[in-house]
Amino acid sequence: MDILLDRFLRYVKVETTAVEQTDKYPSSTGQLELGKTLAAELAALGIKDAGVDEHGIVMGTVPATVEGAPTIAWISHMDTSPEFTAKNVKPVVHRNWNGKDIVLSGDPSKVICVAETKGLAELSGKTLITTDGTTLLGADDKAGVAVIMTAAAHLLSHPEIRRGAIRIVFTCDEEVGRGVDKLDLKKIDAVCGYTLDGESIGELDNETFSADLAVVTITGRNIHPGLATGKMVNAIRLAGVFLSRMPWQRLAPETTANRDGFLHPYVIEGGVHEVKVRILLRSFVTAELADHAVVLRRVADSILVEHPQAKINIEVKKQYRNMREALENEPRAVHLAAEAIRRVGLEPKFQSIRGGTDGSRLSEIGLPTPNLAVGMHNFHSPIEFACLEEMETSVKILIELAQLWGREK
Ligand SMILES: [Zn+2]
Repeated sequence: MDILLDRFLRYVKVETTAVEQTDKYPSSTGQLELGKTLAAELAALGIKDAGVDEHGIVMGTVPATVEGAPTIAWISHMDTSPEFTAKNVKPVVHRNWNGKDIVLSGDPSKVICVAETKGLAELSGKTLITTDGTTLLGADDKAGVAVIMTAAAHLLSHPEIRRGAIRIVFTCDEEVGRGVDKLDLKKIDAVCGYTLDGESIGELDNETFSADLAVVTITGRNIHPGLATGKMVNAIRLAGVFLSRMPWQRLAPETTANRDGFLHPYVIEGGVHEVKVRILLRSFVTAELADHAVVLRRVADSILVEHPQAKINIEVKKQYRNMREALENEPRAVHLAAEAIRRVGLEPKFQSIRGGTDGSRLSEIGLPTPNLAVGMHNFHSPIEFACLEEMETSVKILIELAQLWGREK
């Protein structure tokens, strides 16, 4: 457990914040730095093909000890969320945590409240790792990286464990939606993958939203306001009308939960001449995305009837698809993960994520990839924390999983 903790603490101290506003890949040099460290550590463990490719992605193979078993992949991302700084992360280890609210030492206004944090009360007596309140922790997803490293080290030092080959993949820029862009499925060459990028241990994410992005462009007509009588068509006002006519009491993230989808306007920009509104369309049922687009077109049509001089263009782009559809092509991916969770004494909790994961896109392009928990909590926030015992259980689940796949053909 100390080795696992040591790895985790070293990885979180490397600043790997992903950057949205750049074309560079990876988007920040810290990811390259961590990647080099990880590749060197994999090599030191005895992984012969460990290396960093030209995009900064780290790969290496834990070789098989049985012949003919399928290769699987373990995947986690090295970058951290741009939503909060991860410069000079000063992790704080709370051993045998007393179950009380945790006031973070570097910023006492930041408190991890037991009452407000799902599942936290049950972690009393465990070892928690928090920040000092001034940064992210980056357990998302360095807990996953540390768990994979530790499981790989265990397998390599126990050649008597019967297993197929395991491809280790550490990716870049997941947090800015580019985690899969540079991945080469041919190089990964596995029957399925597992992202180690989930919360409470025992959770198994086998379903995500299907997602499209609608870009609504409203074009008006600009003219000096002094000369505007009967001539100006103000795209800003029309955008206001557009938004007010969108469903809100239903089909909105603020008013729905569980298996309900939604339409979510999240960016608006422009001026009198033109306004663009970006709207996320989300549903667990892919076919419903087309219905969401129809809702937008109806709103647009109702406005154009009243303002025939305006133009409204709606462009819908595909984002990702519910991973469940692709997981059905390789049912063992979820089935064996559930069995591995049972083998460490837990009951698997199947979850439908109201969002996407790298696994949604990987599953769609041909690598069925459910998501496993690693014990990270409150991520994308300075009150982020990780639980060491949960991370350790995650290592055990991976070792069981390797053996279960070792029996397959
Ligand atoms: Zn993540």
